[in-house]
Amino acid sequence: MTFSVHGLPVARGIAIGRAVLVASSRADVAHYFIEPASVEAEIERVRMGRNAVVDEIHRLQQSVAQMGPKDAPHELTALLDVHLMLLQDEMLVSGVKHWISNRLYNAEWALTTQLEVIARQFDEMEDEYLRERKADLEQVVERILRYMKGVAPLTAPHHRTQQDLLLDDTVDVPLVLIANDLSPGDMLQFKQSVFAGFATDVGGKTSHTAIVARSLDIPAVVGARSASQLVRQDDWVIIDGDAGVLIVDPSAIILAEYGFKQRQGQLERERLARLRHTPAITMDGQKVELLANIEMPEDAVGAIKAGAVGVGLFRSEFLFMGRNGKLPDEEEQYQAYKRAVEGMQGLPVTIRTVDIGADKSLDKGQKDGAGLNPALGLRAIRWSLNDPAMFLTQLRAILRAAAHGQVNLLIPMLAHASEIRQTLSLVDFARAELDNRGMPSGPVKLGAMIEIPAAALMLKLFLKHFDFLSIGTNDLIQYTLAIDRADEAVAHLYDPLHPAVLRLVADTIAECNAQGKGVSVCGEMAGDPSHTRLLLGMGLRSFSMHPAQILAVKQEVLRADTSRLQPWAQRVIESEDPASVLNV
Ligand code: PEP
Ligand code: MG
Repeated sequence: MTFSVHGLPVARGIAIGRAVLVASSRADVAHYFIEPASVEAEIERVRMGRNAVVDEIHRLQQSVAQMGPKDAPHELTALLDVHLMLLQDEMLVSGVKHWISNRLYNAEWALTTQLEVIARQFDEMEDEYLRERKADLEQVVERILRYMKGVAPLTAPHHRTQQDLLLDDTVDVPLVLIANDLSPGDMLQFKQSVFAGFATDVGGKTSHTAIVARSLDIPAVVGARSASQLVRQDDWVIIDGDAGVLIVDPSAIILAEYGFKQRQGQLERERLARLRHTPAITMDGQKVELLANIEMPEDAVGAIKAGAVGVGLFRSEFLFMGRNGKLPDEEEQYQAYKRAVEGMQGLPVTIRTVDIGADKSLDKGQKDGAGLNPALGLRAIRWSLNDPAMFLTQLRAILRAAAHGQVNLLIPMLAHASEIRQTLSLVDFARAELDNRGMPSGPVKLGAMIEIPAAALMLKLFLKHFDFLSIGTNDLIQYTLAIDRADEAVAHLYDPLHPAVLRLVADTIAECNAQGKGVSVCGEMAGDPSHTRLLLGMGLRSFSMHPAQILAVKQEVLRADTSRLQPWAQRVIESEDPASVLNV
């Protein structure tokens, strides 16, 4: 029966495919397709893993048997029996074979997929004892996975694109990822993704998970509450990334309708692609800079392809995530920044120092700086200044990379004059260290993010110390309106057009323009074509966004006449209800 789940639209477009449920705890399990010729070898890997765990349990049973009846708790014996039974369960074995043979999933993916299928059946059981066996099953699968980790895959991953999938009649169905929640780090795992779209139960529109999803450029919905409970493994689903809706088990009519919408979207993309080489100049001759936001050095390729004229925001924290607390050293960071600089082929690259904290933790499950309010806690520059040795390492790596091209150094979440002073003296110190070592470094322009209202209210101080400012609207909205950007429960109040937000953004742009200092917007507002005209009207000429959004924004720029937009934007800013003026 068809039903729909409503959430928040994150990335545009329509995806139609089979659901792949991924528990967040399983997101770091490798997901890739194997070659058809490797099916047997992959099944053998699981078999070996399972046999190893069976042997381990047999050994445990023997040692339990050698204990006296007093020392051998009955529960332990019973538990081992249950684990053995689960390991030999036909449903686990045949299910895993199915996912490997029919879908060409790698062994780990097949195993965790089948785990989800069986776990769901346990959840639905009336009998409490049986229901609780789910935890045992999870433990058993965990042990097999652990064993398989030590045994390298017999074949290299075969990264199939959606195109491959559509061309291949063994695996002819696009796949759609459904999860309760995924951390930004988890999302990175899906960057080389085989998925045609995704939906999560939780998350706000500008949560970092949503931001990474947007960079994947596939239709996505977040905040689709309980989607992961309602959808079953392998259900047909439609992700409508424009409306923020997930449709489950669509009827033939609905499928046809969305198939049509999907083709329309494709045609629109092809039309926009023609703008790639067109310079972004408004009708009245104003040049506009469209820059890229990237998370990894390799994203530079996509930025160039989309026609970006530089990187306006390299979120360096993604180099720090998912490393079990072992942070990248200076050399590793230097190589990464250098790759980004070289990848941009002489165009400027703005590297933001690490912004860990709030919804971006270093490692899964770890809440960095998590006090009661992590978004208000030890995050971004506060985290860096709390660990000067770590910060200096990053600064040296960035200054060294600046020897290879134009680099701007951007500092997140500054609010206090003392933080500005400390930061600037650490930048000087890092350069002096490199000079003492006789290591080459390059000049950098220094910039500050304006993402805390306090910063937006002390622009003169900021402009005294910095060459440019970059407005982080994602956080500026969060902190101005006291709305957690990652919390779907208050997502309806997260409003980029709130008059207070517009006032802070407009004042920042105006002050920078008046002083002849560079200013850009690098929050999600910059990549939303419905806000392009307003920002142009406020005097903004530099926008930084995910490469996938550049062409749609460029189209708005090409159609704009800033001489007419300026008085109109003034009316929008002064209105009590900007959204109503915006549409006239
Ligand atoms: C912002 O806050 O708008 C921004 C660009 O930074 P981030 O989204 O990484 O917090
Ligand atoms: Mg921010």
